[in-house]
Amino acid sequence: MLRAGGMAIAGTALGAGFPGMAEAVEGDVTTRTVYDTIVVGAGLAGLTAARELRKKGHRVLVLEARDRIGGRTWTDRFNSWEIERGGAWVDPLQPHVWREISRYNLAIVADQGPERVLMPTPNGFAETDPVTAYTRQGELFTPFFEGARDYFPKPYAPFTREDLITPLDGLSLRDRLNQLKLSPADEMRMTGTTGLYGSPSSRGSMLQLAQWWALAGWNYTGFSGVNTYRLARGTIALADAILADGRPDLKLGSPVASVTQQSGRVKVVTRAGAAYTATEVIMAVPVNVWKDITFSPALPQPHRDATTEGYGVPRQRKLFLDLAAPADRFIAEAPEGSPFVIMGRLNDDAPVVAFSVDATLDVSSRAQVEAAVRKILPSATLRDYTVTDWEAAEFSRGGPAYRRPHQLTRLHKAINRPFGPVRFCADDLALGWIGYMDGAIESGLRAAGSPTLSPTPGEAQKQADAARVALPAVDRRIHRTLFGL
Ligand SMILES: Cc1cc2nc3c(=O)[nH]c(=O)nc-3n(C[C@H](O)[C@H](O)[C@H](O)COP(=O)(O)OP(=O)(O)OC[C@H]3O[C@@H](n4cnc5c(N)ncnc54)[C@H](O)[C@@H]3O)c2cc1C
Repeated sequence: MLRAGGMAIAGTALGAGFPGMAEAVEGDVTTRTVYDTIVVGAGLAGLTAARELRKKGHRVLVLEARDRIGGRTWTDRFNSWEIERGGAWVDPLQPHVWREISRYNLAIVADQGPERVLMPTPNGFAETDPVTAYTRQGELFTPFFEGARDYFPKPYAPFTREDLITPLDGLSLRDRLNQLKLSPADEMRMTGTTGLYGSPSSRGSMLQLAQWWALAGWNYTGFSGVNTYRLARGTIALADAILADGRPDLKLGSPVASVTQQSGRVKVVTRAGAAYTATEVIMAVPVNVWKDITFSPALPQPHRDATTEGYGVPRQRKLFLDLAAPADRFIAEAPEGSPFVIMGRLNDDAPVVAFSVDATLDVSSRAQVEAAVRKILPSATLRDYTVTDWEAAEFSRGGPAYRRPHQLTRLHKAINRPFGPVRFCADDLALGWIGYMDGAIESGLRAAGSPTLSPTPGEAQKQADAARVALPAVDRRIHRTLFGL
């Protein structure tokens, strides 16, 4: 990893090479401190906003806290494997990310998918074939979203039926499960999903899951299948391409400490004391980290509420496990409260991926991690593992956006509004695919004043069908989200 501590990379064009770290151009290091726009954060939202503004002729500086670009996407290595520590899957149903993939002609691969599925029952795990397992999941989840066509008729405009969503916005995922009065066995099959997204189900908003259902065409195949395709050269290829196209000035290793509005300009100071000014600032950092930055004047109340309450999934850890056995392709879902709520291997010769939102699991303890694996696969042997703790990461403080009850109607519009010359973007602020790369890009486009896309599910499906002609053929019915929400 590049240790760039404050390194300035002028008009950066990153090379295509994995893992996509920047190289300074000798003799071309910028000393400029005055810009038209300063973008704070070099995740997909910030890189997109920076590119758009550069195309409009702005002088743009991107200040990034970490020593890499990509934020909550992070292509890395684990032993001999290339892994995605954060976001991984993309889909033609997601129009903004798909347009970027098409624009830069980035190659896509499809997961092979599981050969068997382990589902929890009151008497332990039951193994079935994937089509049987996920046909049943579809039957269980479809009633969960009853009415979603009415209350989210235009999925990219979530407030279209504000009259209908307002009374529903107080519902947590747990409230909705309770309403359905499911048998213990059926409920157990669903809490792996609701527990992972809600972290726990009682924290997560029912409406956020329902909005994804609507965005995916109001059906289980779309909802679950958006996690089928990956970028062949990793998510870093997308971040690199956007950066190389925009060529903003970029400073890595530059965490921003304060943002001060004064005399019609905005002054941005890093923790190391470097000061820059601009006519406008775009805060492209997760909502959860706003509280760590000193804003002057202080942020409006809704922004303060959002960052205090939290938008990103708490306690989220994504693990890659090298298991001596089993070696086949499988998915195992576990009920809420389990150390891992989902784990699986989707490709031959790949490591097993597992997600945990269990605060009591000490992921630094190999013994505890192996015990967590054996709760699902009793004969498994753990050779090695690596973990990314998104909650502990100080520049994320959580995983992807997942709203709590009431936040959509109480906060979402307000935190999307500019605060004088300071604007905000991130996957958390998306109007469509909140919590996804697509949402981050959409939000970055809006912050830069560029148009966004809002296809109807039917139009998006047509795009997806057309795109799939060029995509590897897969059986979407067996592709279960391994998305780490
Ligand atoms: C485990 C996991 C799995 C996921 N799976 C998927 C998936 O399969 N598909 C999908 O589409 N999405 C997925 N996501 C979500 C996706 O990764 C995010 O939606 C997206 O990357 C968010 O981009 P962003 O630009 O909004 O925020 P970020 O990527 O978080 O970018 C914000 C940037 O701001 C920087 N920053 C923070 N504080 C400061 C500061 N003080 N000063 C300067 N810079 C700062 C950060 O370092 C970061 O680079 C997943 C996320 C996680 C964590």
